[in-house]
Amino acid sequence: MKNIVVIGGGAAGMMTAAMAAGEHQRVWLLEKNEKLGKKLYITGKGRCNLTNACDMQELLAHVMTNGRFLYSAFSGFSNWDTIAFFEELGMKTKIERGNRVFPESDHAYDVTDALSRELRRKKVSVRLKCEVRSVLTNQNAQVCGVKLANGECIPADAVVVATGGLSYPSTGATGDGYRFAKETGHEVTRCVPSLVSLTVREDWCRELSGLSLKNVAVCFEDKNGKELFSGFGEMLFTHRGVSGPVILTASAQASTALCQSVLYLDLKPALSIEQLERRLQRECEAAGGRQLRAILSALMPASLAGALCAISPVSAKRIGAQITREERARLAQFIKRIPLSIAELGGFTEAVVTKGGVAVSQITPATMESRLIKGLFFVGEVLDLDALTGGFNLQIAWSTAAACARALSGGGERKDRKNAKANSD
Ligand SMILES: Cc1cc2nc3c(=O)[nH]c(=O)nc-3n(C[C@H](O)[C@H](O)[C@H](O)COP(=O)(O)OP(=O)(O)OC[C@H]3O[C@@H](n4cnc5c(N)ncnc54)[C@H](O)[C@@H]3O)c2cc1C
Repeated sequence: MKNIVVIGGGAAGMMTAAMAAGEHQRVWLLEKNEKLGKKLYITGKGRCNLTNACDMQELLAHVMTNGRFLYSAFSGFSNWDTIAFFEELGMKTKIERGNRVFPESDHAYDVTDALSRELRRKKVSVRLKCEVRSVLTNQNAQVCGVKLANGECIPADAVVVATGGLSYPSTGATGDGYRFAKETGHEVTRCVPSLVSLTVREDWCRELSGLSLKNVAVCFEDKNGKELFSGFGEMLFTHRGVSGPVILTASAQASTALCQSVLYLDLKPALSIEQLERRLQRECEAAGGRQLRAILSALMPASLAGALCAISPVSAKRIGAQITREERARLAQFIKRIPLSIAELGGFTEAVVTKGGVAVSQITPATMESRLIKGLFFVGEVLDLDALTGGFNLQIAWSTAAACARALSGGGERKDRKNAKANSD
């Protein structure tokens, strides 16, 4: 009988434990929180976007760091396998806009419930409020167990580190796995918040907190005018700056380079400057005696129009009938290139994922086993892997967990699950 200890009862740890346990493998799942899957409960705004129903190429394209490392894990357990896995466990799924996959119930806790049921069925020994302090190795560079915060030692033939990253530390992700990796001789790359909102210096946009804009184009430039990221989509003003899908994507792609950059907002990306000038001419004529705010309000939400009056190149007091052709040209250019100075990236407390982690060069991609310490595995966000929003980060957790579990159980897990299903039908 092989004794396996999985550290961390999040997405990756639960999946590893559920898949690895079997006739010849006894599995302990150790979680420091009072319950399993604390972060899973808040994913997808409480609905859990558990994967993305796209093809393999797209899956890999959405991984921002070390996509090639995941090729084997994604092939061995794909997004479609994730859907099948949860459906087999009795949790129905549905596909929404952007191929995002959710539980049909819209309840993230159904994902944790399904995994918890599977853990019980596979007789995994779950220990809650159980914090691991260190990973134990012997002089042959082989793992031999873990030491708990209460001083207790649990011997093991294999240890899986599934402790997550640093984002949302209130869910238990406090970077312990990076310490375990370093203490056992592994390299940990620099960790920074990713999929995170940005703080801007301008006060005018703070007044717009809560306003979301669809179909805007954004372009981030460094102080030499070099483009760092450009994109199109939805954004949101926050009390400290900007957020929303296109901003989160920028944070994942350009990361810390965005600090001290300038974000140029194009509020009318579908119109050329000339088309926008003509549109402004029509609005000025229609506005007659009304001031700039009324003219801009025809093109954007009134609150934004009001805020922009304060920084517009044309005086807010000008009325439609007075605005000259030259002023219209300046206004058009302004609306297509509104500058916002980025002060910094938001912190780990609000970041969806951590960019950086255990260096994948020291991990075998097909099994997630360390190349340095025999029997030591790393799965999920603790690894130097991160992706865009859309269910891709959880897919990384599921696929790396499945690769590890397959290695631990000698490849028999899926057969076992299929047999169990056949017996229960
Ligand atoms: C608000 C939010 C929304 C998100 N929404 C989505 C989404 O909809 N779709 C998506 O794909 N991704 C989403 N993500 C990202 C996704 O949740 C993570 O990528 C994923 O949870 C990582 O799984 P993990 O198991 O590696 O780590 P975690 O889920 O963080 O689990 C790690 C676990 O290890 C435990 N642990 C840590 N140290 C120890 C220790 N020393 N001893 C014992 N236990 C320990 C922790 O308590 C924790 O339970 C979201 C993230 C956030 C913060």
